[in-house]
Amino acid sequence: MSLTVLNPATEDVIAELEPAGAEETDAAVARALAAYPAWRAVAPGDRARLLRRLATLVEDHAEELARIESRNVGKPISGARGEVGMIADVFHFYAGAVDKHHGQTIPVAGGVDFTFREPLGVVGLIVPWNFPLNIASWKLGPALACGNTVVLKPAELTPLSALRLAELALEAGIPEGVLDVVAGPGRIVGQRLVEHPDVAKIGFTGSTEVGRSVMEGAAGTIKRVTLELGGKSANVVFADADLERAAAAAPYAVFDNAGQDCCARSRILVERSGYDRFVDALVTATRNVKVGDPASEDTEMGPLISAEHRAKVASYVDGATLFTGDAPEGRGFYFPCTLVEATNDDRVAREEVFGPVAAVIPFDDEADAVRIANDTPYGLSGSIWTRDGARALRVARALETGVISINSNSSVRVATPFGGFKQSGFGRELGLNALDGYSEVKNVFYSTAS
Ligand code: NAD
Repeated sequence: MSLTVLNPATEDVIAELEPAGAEETDAAVARALAAYPAWRAVAPGDRARLLRRLATLVEDHAEELARIESRNVGKPISGARGEVGMIADVFHFYAGAVDKHHGQTIPVAGGVDFTFREPLGVVGLIVPWNFPLNIASWKLGPALACGNTVVLKPAELTPLSALRLAELALEAGIPEGVLDVVAGPGRIVGQRLVEHPDVAKIGFTGSTEVGRSVMEGAAGTIKRVTLELGGKSANVVFADADLERAAAAAPYAVFDNAGQDCCARSRILVERSGYDRFVDALVTATRNVKVGDPASEDTEMGPLISAEHRAKVASYVDGATLFTGDAPEGRGFYFPCTLVEATNDDRVAREEVFGPVAAVIPFDDEADAVRIANDTPYGLSGSIWTRDGARALRVARALETGVISINSNSSVRVATPFGGFKQSGFGRELGLNALDGYSEVKNVFYSTAS
């Protein structure tokens, strides 16, 4: 059976690939294992130079990569360009980090004690379809910078950008076997990486359900795992906030990437005393979201990834809505921007919809807001909108979530740590923190006794 890759905006087939299986996965792991001793021995300055060259090649091929991603995921071309810009920045950042991730010297009796940051070996990276190359780069950057070799498994629906990046890595001079891409089914290729005795670590981004099975599978070999999983983040709007600004920004915090974003602030919590004013402005702002052809320069939201996923998203909207937007009819897996009034107990507020559906939930006061925001098994991101600085910090500390923005909905930056609390996973990507997840601390004591 071949791997059929579709354009979700047109439903046209854009590629047919021979899917990899367990045998190809084993072969890629063997190549990565063989490449490891030489790669970890590359002088830090040279490894940095190779990563910098890869960053530059991504910049040189930015438009090509953005178009691959836009066609394969259905994401608006303007957003895809931004993501490719970030990918280059990620490789630049970790190129700069190679020789700044040091050990320590620790005062002890009888000698000198010092630590090294050792690479882990062969690392398996498993990524989802919503930000295929972007999320891959968050793992590849620190993994390669630390001296690991990598087998990358893209999602079945979106393998094209990762395959192109592997070609660019070779062109950059990164040796064969250091970065291999194996495109095939998760339950075969992914599972094999998770259980493979020669894979030292799995960096996984995907659903909480599959994350759980990755953790179970990794237990057999006590593999290290980093898990970046689902979310159901709260956008908490207090009545004293700049309500017009908060409302104008809120749609893009849910409907960006058609809601297929682990950071989506898909629960919009609004203080009752400002509720009507906020909701009026929110409906107006949502009406203005431009939904349509991802290749158009001014499109802000494209289709969902597949027909199957659209049916799942639709199952969350079964009654009256506050607002339902327009979406193209005919071909393409489009779904309209949808606002529903909800309580935090409703299914739409409890489960990750992963589509353009926002649950709007009123709250009474600060304590009520914190209680509702934390009443979820997830803890990935979130926002707080208020003009009261002390309250902003109190609530930021009280929310059980890994990434929070105040008077903003942006939570992802190259230089700052990103990751979840609770069932949104553990481990951190991006920033210098990510390097800790791709290295092991070795402690050495050197006796000075004569
Ligand atoms: P998914 O869990 O279905 O798949 C993710 C990856 O795992 C894919 O490459 C898939 O092929 C692979 N996989 C599937 N079964 C496997 C198995 N048994 N063993 C090993 N690998 C297997 O997720 P998805 O549908 O591609 O992506 C959507 C999910 O990803 C959402 O839940 C979203 O919240 C989450 N996500 C999280 C983050 C984050 O940083 N926290 C970022 C993006 C997406």
